[in-house]
Amino acid sequence: MLFHSTRGNDSDRKFADIVMQGLASDGGLFMPDAWPQIDIEKFKKSDSFIDVAKQIVPLFTASSYSKEETLQILENTWHDFEDKQFAAIKKVDSKLLILELFHGPTASFKDFGLQLAAAFFNDILEKEDKTAIVLGATSGDTGSAAIDACKKYARIKSFILLPNGNMSEVQRRQMTTVDQPNVFTLRVNGTFDDCQDIVKSAFRDRDFMYDGQYLLAVNSINWVRIIGQICYYFYSYAQLKDEHSKLNFSVPTGNFGNVFACYSALKMGLPLEKIIVAVNENDILYRFFKDNQYARKIVEETISPSMDISIASNFERLIYDFYCERDSKVCNGLFSDFPSSSISLNKDVWQKSKSLFMSARVNDAETLKTMTEVFNDFQYILDPHTAVAFKAAQKLQGSVDGPIIVLATAHPAKFPKTLETVGLTASNIPKSLSNVMDKQEFSFSCEADQTAIINYIKEKNL
Ligand SMILES: *Cc1c(COP(=O)(O)O)cnc(C)c1O
Repeated sequence: MLFHSTRGNDSDRKFADIVMQGLASDGGLFMPDAWPQIDIEKFKKSDSFIDVAKQIVPLFTASSYSKEETLQILENTWHDFEDKQFAAIKKVDSKLLILELFHGPTASFKDFGLQLAAAFFNDILEKEDKTAIVLGATSGDTGSAAIDACKKYARIKSFILLPNGNMSEVQRRQMTTVDQPNVFTLRVNGTFDDCQDIVKSAFRDRDFMYDGQYLLAVNSINWVRIIGQICYYFYSYAQLKDEHSKLNFSVPTGNFGNVFACYSALKMGLPLEKIIVAVNENDILYRFFKDNQYARKIVEETISPSMDISIASNFERLIYDFYCERDSKVCNGLFSDFPSSSISLNKDVWQKSKSLFMSARVNDAETLKTMTEVFNDFQYILDPHTAVAFKAAQKLQGSVDGPIIVLATAHPAKFPKTLETVGLTASNIPKSLSNVMDKQEFSFSCEADQTAIINYIKEKNL
């Protein structure tokens, strides 16, 4: 199976190429040429996450890897999970279940996608005898998951820009305390958007690279991250087996990567009723599902910082596949002026949303209240991102058949200050988080200055 861009001018690409390239050359996002189909009955016999992954991942890698080669890579892909089950479902009450995705080494669901990405990055680099630079900006969890996933591969040097702002001290320390010769954190005196702009223009100029060296994108537009996430949706089904014929998921959303993985699982054959798109006050997706207006707004800082975005990059994939029915000309037209002008779809096309999607917006006050209530009722501590999805599920459960699986995307111990405001303290703190508090921090501090940052990368890219 090959891959092509949502905008129609980059096609017939192999898996290994799109993994290393990230964004398509026409500015679109890569999509598989067809949705591979799986026999859902098979998953009733799967009793581990890896078992499920071994049936999913090879379907997407076949243009570059034999099945045996892929299975070999998967043996060592996901590592350092504190829960042997990787992604266990906890039953909080009869209608709301929690899928715990935070048992990986950096305590967020991003370990699932980024460990898979890093395993393939490294394998491709070894085959081609090349090296790579990972360059990214982070508002919280992406940076730590990318650093952790790549640090054991000497061919990859990671440079991660950390803006001032509202990431927690634990989150920052997860990155700055990694003492490895191929890991570089830059504390930038600027906003997340400043950092993103610098990363984007660095991707254009590339003057700090060697010939043949790769520059890798680790943000959620990389298709390989989506594959890693598709696996846990099927694994949810494997865990519930015959208990429920159809599933509903509530997903806390920023860049729409995790929701798109859920949608992909549906297209591949997962029996699924509704997907709840849960957002904080950065509500571009909520406004789209409510009013058919996909319009950029200034980012607001919330207590769920990993969902603080102004546009949801992966949403283009849904527009292309679900609404435009894979017509890349139409998709290209819709995005040609975005985000300077907003997108609204033809009314009849937009109506299709209701068959599958629901959306709710949850503000900080509601998020905190939900954290308190869920602790009081069930002695379960939610992180603020998960609380957004939990509240969204509560708001909408009256119009949904059957139970809703809420995705728990981060461990609450990543956000001790937020917990403190409602009088909670995380228990069972993962070792990976407690460790960082007394380690020495290493990082380069600088202004949001393109030249200074590029010079630093040049100096370290020896
Ligand atoms: C990244 C992140 C999200 C948002 O995920 P998307 O795939 O960007 O929608 C939600 N919760 C947490 C904890 C995250 O780190």
